[in-house]
Amino acid sequence: STRRAAHGATVHPLQSAHRGVRAKGGEMGASKNPHDDISEVLIDEAKIAARVKALGAEITAAYPGNDELVLVSVLKGSLVFVGDLMRAIDRNVRIDVMEVSSYGGGNTESSGTVRILKDLSGSIDGLDVLIVEDIIDTGLTLNYLTSYLAGKNPRSVRIVTLLDKPARRIAELPVDWTGFEIPDKFVVGYGLDFGEHYRNLRYVGVLKRELYASLIGEA
Ligand code: 5GP
Repeated sequence: STRRAAHGATVHPLQSAHRGVRAKGGEMGASKNPHDDISEVLIDEAKIAARVKALGAEITAAYPGNDELVLVSVLKGSLVFVGDLMRAIDRNVRIDVMEVSSYGGGNTESSGTVRILKDLSGSIDGLDVLIVEDIIDTGLTLNYLTSYLAGKNPRSVRIVTLLDKPARRIAELPVDWTGFEIPDKFVVGYGLDFGEHYRNLRYVGVLKRELYASLIGEA
């Protein structure tokens, strides 16, 4: 179930909960064993590892020479992915982190604007930049981030995402590498959270609907 935000974009209610008003773990009835809250394992640990290795090889080949490649990790969801991916890239890399918020504080509707909570620490002037994202949904966040970074005079800006939900894309993006295309389900694990929980799961799983039903107005 989705609803229309003021600017006409279809916003996943959970995404609002995710980057806007955040459910606190203790209030949403999460189990003590996080695995009990998963209805389905979508991508298991071995599959992720194999795909990340392949992505690393492709990325290594795509940047010949030994000029510095700057991995820009979009926090916090890409933390786990970037840790594995950077070790699969066999060249000279530097890592920088950014944190963004898609929605205004205290608002469950998308404002359509992206706020930068943490900017780059180093310069990307003249360098190759690879944005590392956990999941692309509407594409609005990355659309903003890509043009923001392009304004800092890098040699190139490319995108790698672990997960992609193409069904919900609003902003068209040139995504250079995708780990897995997934259906329109709310997923957690391997860095992705709900209310800051489940990031440490080694697989990508679908969160049980009953855990967020009340947040999206279901009984
Ligand atoms: P968008 O592409 O819509 O601008 O936003 C992408 C962001 O929404 C992701 O970085 C992530 O924080 C959040 N998001 C979208 N779909 C999911 C999902 O299925 N699970 C989780 N945990 N976060 C999601």
